[in-house]
Amino acid sequence: MKVIVIGAGVAGLATARGLLRAGHDVEVYEESPEPRTDGGSVTLWPGSTAILEELKADWTGVGRRLETLESWAADGRRLLTLDLTVPERRFGHPVVHVARGELVELLSDGVPVTYGARAEHVVPERAEVRLSDGRTVRGDVLVGADGRRSVVRAALWGADRATLSPWVTWQGFTTAPTPLTESRRAVMIAGRNGLCGLIPAGRGRLLWWFDVRSAPGRPFWADDPDVVGRLRERFGGWAEPVPAVLATIEDAGFFPHYRQPIPSVWGRGPATLAGDAAHTMPPTMAQGANQALEDAWLLTRSIGDLRAYERARSKVVRRPARLAATEATDMQRPIAGLLPDGLMTRVYTALLRRYSSYLLTAL
Ligand SMILES: Cc1cc2nc3c(=O)[nH]c(=O)nc-3n(C[C@H](O)[C@H](O)[C@H](O)COP(=O)(O)OP(=O)(O)OC[C@H]3O[C@@H](n4cnc5c(N)ncnc54)[C@H](O)[C@@H]3O)c2cc1C
Repeated sequence: MKVIVIGAGVAGLATARGLLRAGHDVEVYEESPEPRTDGGSVTLWPGSTAILEELKADWTGVGRRLETLESWAADGRRLLTLDLTVPERRFGHPVVHVARGELVELLSDGVPVTYGARAEHVVPERAEVRLSDGRTVRGDVLVGADGRRSVVRAALWGADRATLSPWVTWQGFTTAPTPLTESRRAVMIAGRNGLCGLIPAGRGRLLWWFDVRSAPGRPFWADDPDVVGRLRERFGGWAEPVPAVLATIEDAGFFPHYRQPIPSVWGRGPATLAGDAAHTMPPTMAQGANQALEDAWLLTRSIGDLRAYERARSKVVRRPARLAATEATDMQRPIAGLLPDGLMTRVYTALLRRYSSYLLTAL
């Protein structure tokens, strides 16, 4: 079967990789002139590390395997520790935190991508796309993996249904040594001012991020001229290592949060969607890249029945999307203190399975 994939992000590359391995003829078109390796880093849950193994994308030496996910109060009190070795043992695959750019590089190895080719006009019924270089390409199947502003989705669904959430993320990496950088601990610190996350990403980097409330025209929006100063002012009084990390920051990357209703049918005829094109969600549950890999895995197996793929995936992906959309970021502290660590670890392990088509099918 000839498959046209639009977009060389996590969803497009993983789908192409899976389809190539299954013997299909695949062409990937990406608007950027080169691989898009910018952005922060992403946590890959056991379903995703299992899928990477199936895709023969060897992540040895890439990212950092995590053993605990800790929730702290702003004064540094530890409220909850989830033991991530429990899901690792239960599912046989670890939790890994990896720079998005390294994941893109890993997945793109061996995948034929035409860069600098933007999809401009899409005819879903004919799996046909007119590209910015003037060519028209056609396949037996068309996969729109072109992210939040998907033109394939626009051809299928019409107007963009995503809305901004009241939260945004400011993020970056620091290479200054901290007690967490070489650890296997992810830490989330919640307070009235917002949320701070600190996660080791491998190769001497620590991802830091701050979630704060904002909107266009307000402080902390994309065009804020002194966001670093504002972050220091707002979070500088929190427990170490937050002030130490803030002292190393020179600039920060902006990541607004969007939510989007997820219908049961994503496509029409030989056209379908994968990844953020179908289900943009806030990063709160750390599921965006994971759900993209889950789409790729099921789509590879269901390429002959796209509506079955969409029905099965929409049912699973709505679960983390619903929770992520609540963005109960500043509610984390009261909730985290309520139940013992062992019970919460078991609940989280069960949730990880419910969020994964791979784990629900394979285990
Ligand atoms: C540059 C970048 C940085 C990111 N940083 C973070 C981050 O720090 N934290 C986080 O949680 N998530 C981040 N994300 C989002 C995260 O990668 C996705 O939520 C998740 O991986 C799902 O990926 P996706 O492949 O569906 O979408 P995306 O990763 O958005 O990939 C879509 C791809 O399609 C391409 N594309 C778009 N329109 C067209 C078109 N018309 N024709 C051809 N190609 C097109 C884009 O250039 C992009 O390469 C980032 C995404 C990008 C593109």
